Amino acid sequence: AERTLTILKPDCVKKNLIGEVTRRIQEAGFKIVAMKMVRLTSDTAGGFYAVHRERPFFGELVEFMSSGPCVPMVLEKENAVADFRTLIGATNPAEADEGTIRADFADSVGENIVHGSDSVENGKIESAYFFSESEVV
Ligand code: ATP
Repeated sequence: AERTLTILKPDCVKKNLIGEVTRRIQEAGFKIVAMKMVRLTSDTAGGFYAVHRERPFFGELVEFMSSGPCVPMVLEKENAVADFRTLIGATNPAEADEGTIRADFADSVGENIVHGSDSVENGKIESAYFFSESEVV
């Protein structure tokens, strides 16, 4: 089945929402095939979001993503990439559909609880950024 990468971002961890968000992910039919807790540095957060390097919010994004531990996971499901983005809702929680993870828990476009890959190809690249082959079951 298709795979996608998510990160439970530092705001998710700080708000003690690891369990609730993980429950929703599993309830929606995703199988967790890799999971860990990591503290990103400015360098590793900046590397992960390198495509956004020229964007005005890049500094803020890197600072936030390295502000505390986060929980990357590889998720498996049919149509995982698109279905996961539906589950989490729009990047800006003010625009996210009712009942989505971001609508329910995110404070702002910057602090939006979760990441989700935007394509199968990027999901593979992003998964390799966090997990070695033996860490993906
Ligand atoms: P993600 O990649 O985290 O799933 P996304 O694909 O929904 O998010 P992108 O446009 O790729 O959104 O932006 C990546 C991340 O950068 C967003 O999740 C958000 O944390 C941050 N971001 C995007 N736009 C802004 C902004 N205007 N101000 C602050 N942070 C932003």
